[in-house]
Amino acid sequence: MNKGEYMKKIIYVDNAATTALNEKAYNEMIPYLREDFGNPSGLYTFAREPRRAVNEARSIIANCIGAEKNEVYFTSGGTESDNWAIKGTAFSSKHKGKHIITTQIEHHAVLNSCKFLESQEFQITYLPVDEEGLISTEDLQSAIRNDTVLISIMLANNEIGTIENIKDLVEIAHNYSILFHTDAVQAVGHIGVNVKKLNIDLLSASAHKFNGPKGTGFLYISNKCELTELLSGGEQENGKRSGTENVAAIVGMAVALKDNIENLTERMNYVQKLKSYFLDKLSQTQLNYIVNGCKNALPGTISLSFKNVNGEALMHRLDLKGIEVSTGSACDSHNTQLSHVIKAINVDKIYANGTIRISISHTNDFKELDFIVESLTKIIG
Ligand code: PLP
Repeated sequence: MNKGEYMKKIIYVDNAATTALNEKAYNEMIPYLREDFGNPSGLYTFAREPRRAVNEARSIIANCIGAEKNEVYFTSGGTESDNWAIKGTAFSSKHKGKHIITTQIEHHAVLNSCKFLESQEFQITYLPVDEEGLISTEDLQSAIRNDTVLISIMLANNEIGTIENIKDLVEIAHNYSILFHTDAVQAVGHIGVNVKKLNIDLLSASAHKFNGPKGTGFLYISNKCELTELLSGGEQENGKRSGTENVAAIVGMAVALKDNIENLTERMNYVQKLKSYFLDKLSQTQLNYIVNGCKNALPGTISLSFKNVNGEALMHRLDLKGIEVSTGSACDSHNTQLSHVIKAINVDKIYANGTIRISISHTNDFKELDFIVESLTKIIG
């Protein structure tokens, strides 16, 4: 089978890992890879168009999340945004304190940034979650100390899709004048996210999760925050994040996000319908499984744990049928150990090892879901 035939055959339902590039974004990126290749920092005429494009992309993105234009900083993606938000606050000369609060279910970009800070004499509290993956406001309240400088809690979980009650958690942080960062990598472009309504201080996003190109993203930094820069150099991004801008990717990210936001309600409703259809079909089988997460979840993310099944083997058997899902989180696909999220929500051992994540997007259809249910029944049943 050649590559084209293979691509036509596969059923891609791992959209929480990455998404297909939006066609409009692809087309609008091309000129900046070809004729308009100038460096946006250049002082001559040829630099004007790429500089204009980067500026326009910043305005579009700011609009999509309710931010001011000067609060959007381009980065290389979610990992860098998380690292910058956490380390940049910890080492800031304005925001002082040696204690950070986060959760046990964060992405490793957050967890490992916190781990690094532990080696630099910071203290980290990792809040537990309930069986739905939710943080309790009481737990947050009682973890706060005099020297807490930052609270970092994700908006939506990448493995089980749980959406946290960020607004309530931010309110607690602000009662104590503590900065609040949210990793919104799974949320931006999929559900409505407005930084002013959430009253958030720092927010991470990544283009390839919302049909933009890989290797680009942004960090929203509210005007009241002063972060230390991670990357020093040529003073791009207002002197806060040096490095020549990835112009084509930045343009593609803005086009993709705008397209998703303009079609948000329609796409959310469709993906939600697909999810309900799939779960309904699955419930009509004899399979023994549990659905992880909570009611208030990302529209397309489904975490299933099958009884007495090896999740990794199941993933490979589905792959042989052309169905692309992931075990736990694809961001640590090299790690075959039980996911820290599945552990934190306390999934019963006989189910936990049989966990797979199916993440649907607006590019999927009902027929594909029929085939997945049929295949799961054949493989496990
Ligand atoms: N945060 C979350 C919640 C994610 O799901 C991911 C990637 O899956 C990241 C951060 C890292 O983003 P990136 O792949 O852009 O580095």
